[in-house]
Amino acid sequence: MNIQKIAFEEINGRLLEFLDSSPTSFHAVAGMKERLEAAGYRRLYEGQSWKLEAGSGYYVTRNDSALIAFRIPKADFKGFQIMASHSDSPTFKVKSNAEIEVDRQYLKLNVEKYGGMLCAPWLDRPLSVAGRVVVRRADGVETRLVKVDRDLLIIPNLAIHMNRQVNEGYAFNAQKDMLPLLGDGTAKDGFLKLIAGEAGVDEADILDTDLFLYTRDKGTVLGLNGEFLAAPRLDDLQCAFASLEGFLGAEPKESVAVHCVMDNEEVGSGTKQGAASTFLRDVLHRINTGLGRTEEQYLTALASSFMVSADNAHGVHPNQPDKADPTNRPYLNQGIVIKYSANQKYTTDAISGAIFKSICEKAGVPYQTFTNRSDMLGGSTLGNISNAQVALNTVDIGLPQLAMHSCYETAGSRDTGYLAEAARVFYSLTVSGDGDGNYQLI
Ligand code: ZN
Repeated sequence: MNIQKIAFEEINGRLLEFLDSSPTSFHAVAGMKERLEAAGYRRLYEGQSWKLEAGSGYYVTRNDSALIAFRIPKADFKGFQIMASHSDSPTFKVKSNAEIEVDRQYLKLNVEKYGGMLCAPWLDRPLSVAGRVVVRRADGVETRLVKVDRDLLIIPNLAIHMNRQVNEGYAFNAQKDMLPLLGDGTAKDGFLKLIAGEAGVDEADILDTDLFLYTRDKGTVLGLNGEFLAAPRLDDLQCAFASLEGFLGAEPKESVAVHCVMDNEEVGSGTKQGAASTFLRDVLHRINTGLGRTEEQYLTALASSFMVSADNAHGVHPNQPDKADPTNRPYLNQGIVIKYSANQKYTTDAISGAIFKSICEKAGVPYQTFTNRSDMLGGSTLGNISNAQVALNTVDIGLPQLAMHSCYETAGSRDTGYLAEAARVFYSLTVSGDGDGNYQLI
């Protein structure tokens, strides 16, 4: 074990900053771009031809909400070492023509669900809006990121006196219960004005928007001994962050290291920037052709590649310990969770599980295992969806957390450091097999 050298506090500090500056997938990608640029990575565009050099690092985005960064080793490469996570989290999207007046005394916003969130935590806390606006220009359209960086909105609960049964369970109606309050009667026509002001454009030039609610609560480290870390959007920016940490610290020798962050996992991945799209396949293919290699070499490389699909996992809940499987019980701070599912909702099999355990052992970080209770359906993730586009030896993993899909989730304060270190070791390796189930980690 060499976990003594992991700077947990420092990593958590930067994780919390990243979470705070990433209210939407667009902002998460912008933040990762900044770090990659600072580390000397060069930007590529899907709409231009790629001339790649051995020993260099590059990144490309799609829709400004998905990102793939890669580093090519100096020598000719054997395969790809890929870690994939997702940039989006469940939230509420602001609809077009969003303003709704109530008794001419209130102005609220019309919103709809994005993904499957726990509704209750969104109530009674300061919220705001972030996303992108697309504005008219003389020769086309232009996109601007926006983040209204102040307490702006609130979704008030109904008083207990008007719903005495609420603590026995309540079915939230998204069209009725979840609309945020923006202002009083004087706020009318003020929403788009505010957004235009934040974007630095004329309101009349806004042609369209992708705007989402985000909670204003900042992340924090808590627990008697600082054991826990609670914050918005841990699923899955905690994995995206740890993947990038490991990627930037790695030294790939015989494989191309690929840091991949997809969008729209929370709504089924079926978009052009989601895991079901061709984005990863296109990028891997273009890395191959960009270095003047043949199709045969591409297919050979895929057979010597390994993918880690990194998406957070359920830790055993302190108040509901029987919701977890009887023998696979992940706890916070006990390490990276390897996820199994017999019906292959998770891609892990004995080979990819064993290879990932070997990687953790090389990194000196702990791992644990997850399966759903046999009488419970679990969630889904990126791995098997992505494998339909580009079939790779893949393991599904994640960091253990509580309250998944709440707008304020809880995780362990050591696990991000563990995954960052495992990612660093993983990205520096090559996993190659002989076709008979024997693999070498070099
Ligand atoms: Zn997730």
